Amino acid sequence: MNYTFLINSLGPDRLKKDEPLAKHTYFKLGGPADYLYEANTLDDLVAAVQSAITYKIPYLVIGGGSNILVSDSGFRGLVIKNKSKEIHLKGFAGGVEKGKLDLKEAIVEADSGVPANHLIRYTLDQGLSGLEDMLGLPGSVGGAVYNNSHHLGHLFGDHLIEVLVLDLEGKIKKYTQAECKFDYDYSIFHKTKEIVLSASFQMKRGDKDSLWEVANAAVKRRATTQPLGAPSSGCIFKNIPLADAMRIGTPDTTQSVGYLLDKAGLKGLSVGGAKVSDVHANFIVNDGTATTGDVLALIADVKTKIKEKYGVDLTEEVILL
Ligand SMILES: Cc1cc2nc3c(=O)[nH]c(=O)nc-3n(C[C@H](O)[C@H](O)[C@H](O)COP(=O)(O)OP(=O)(O)OC[C@H]3O[C@@H](n4cnc5c(N)ncnc54)[C@H](O)[C@@H]3O)c2cc1C
Repeated sequence: MNYTFLINSLGPDRLKKDEPLAKHTYFKLGGPADYLYEANTLDDLVAAVQSAITYKIPYLVIGGGSNILVSDSGFRGLVIKNKSKEIHLKGFAGGVEKGKLDLKEAIVEADSGVPANHLIRYTLDQGLSGLEDMLGLPGSVGGAVYNNSHHLGHLFGDHLIEVLVLDLEGKIKKYTQAECKFDYDYSIFHKTKEIVLSASFQMKRGDKDSLWEVANAAVKRRATTQPLGAPSSGCIFKNIPLADAMRIGTPDTTQSVGYLLDKAGLKGLSVGGAKVSDVHANFIVNDGTATTGDVLALIADVKTKIKEKYGVDLTEEVILL
């Protein structure tokens, strides 16, 4: 691949050559990217994607790297690490009371590179309700929109009203919430391969103290149910379909794949340095010596065992690159 034009366009000092992607993923796994570029602003992000399109270089945009499993051979092309960071109130209803802004309802717009937690804390500080259950979600706004990330039955796209994207020709385009076709672990961007630039959320005022209470409870719950100290990419598999849960007769027809893996006795199962977590059976953790190959072999082993035991076909939630 000829990178000369891309290097001239983005600037040699802004590009890292043969950058190990293990440094940019929560799993601490993944071989080198031919080039990695850090986009610090939306303008950077747009320029990098447009350059890659113009010079026909394969590109991949990542946010926090918390939901990806990158191949040991890495990525041939340009990886763009999205660190755009602006959040602002785009519109609001309310007034000024005792010299303070008294919001009744607001539209908050965030760049796609904003860490989801920064956005959530911002809305909590404004006393805006809707994202409080998600506090503790790793990764970026862009990654959470892409996969419609979820927690405790709430979906990231629930309060979203508009998304700005860059299409495959490098043109900016708008999507409404309905056009995003949000579903469990899905948005239309899986199909269109467009790049999320920013997202706007419409949120109503709530009681600040109660919102923080819910948010802190969500964080506490994560700390007690997830192996947060160990490198992982969160849940490996999607929850099982309701029909399977009913057929198997899970308690309260839970669709939790973690429950099923635990029941099958798979906690602690390992391949090389990759192990099914003892804390949460739907997490695979890297003991520091794992390769992506180890994780893939363990995923295959778990799928085979669950198919044999319960006749369920598991599908990956983690995105394989
Ligand atoms: C400890 C832990 C806990 C987790 N808990 C949860 C949870 O409760 N609920 C949940 O749903 N997930 C959870 N996850 C998974 C993950 O954090 C979320 O899916 C998160 O939203 C991914 O965001 P990211 O920026 O890290 O995406 P990345 O991992 O960087 O990317 C994921 C995918 O999104 C694409 N993408 C990223 N940015 C953009 C963009 N701007 N435009 C278009 N595509 C883009 C990437 O190309 C890739 O295909 C957890 C992960 C960990 C490690």
